[in-house]
Amino acid sequence: MALFKLEKKAPKGPSGRWDVGVGEDLCKACGFCLNVCPTDVFAYRKAPNKIGWFPMFTAHEENCIGCMLCYQICPDFCIDVTLKNGGPDMAPIPPNARTAPAKP
Ligand code: SF4
Ligand code: SF4
Repeated sequence: MALFKLEKKAPKGPSGRWDVGVGEDLCKACGFCLNVCPTDVFAYRKAPNKIGWFPMFTAHEENCIGCMLCYQICPDFCIDVTLKNGGPDMAPIPPNARTAPAKP
């Protein structure tokens, strides 16, 4: 099993473009995401989840810059970070852009 989630490099960008999801039912409240986040997106809930921990939630999603540190560090795979609405960076590549470069 891969120890690092290589498919998500750290795209950094302006805030307000990112959806940050926390699987609160799986969260064990370790606080890693809270401590690693550079923009104070996370906070603890005041009510416990099904397994008895006070889980993390996204209190200030609008602050997220998409650095992916929380996604990388969560030991329980609770967090996902994606561009809102698929985002312009996720648009499909037009077919005519896939042609091989001309040889000299
Ligand atoms: S990707 Fe995660 S760690 Fe990075 S700014 Fe967003 S919420 Fe914080
Ligand atoms: S790193 Fe994961 S398990 Fe730990 S508090 Fe954050 S969401 Fe919960």
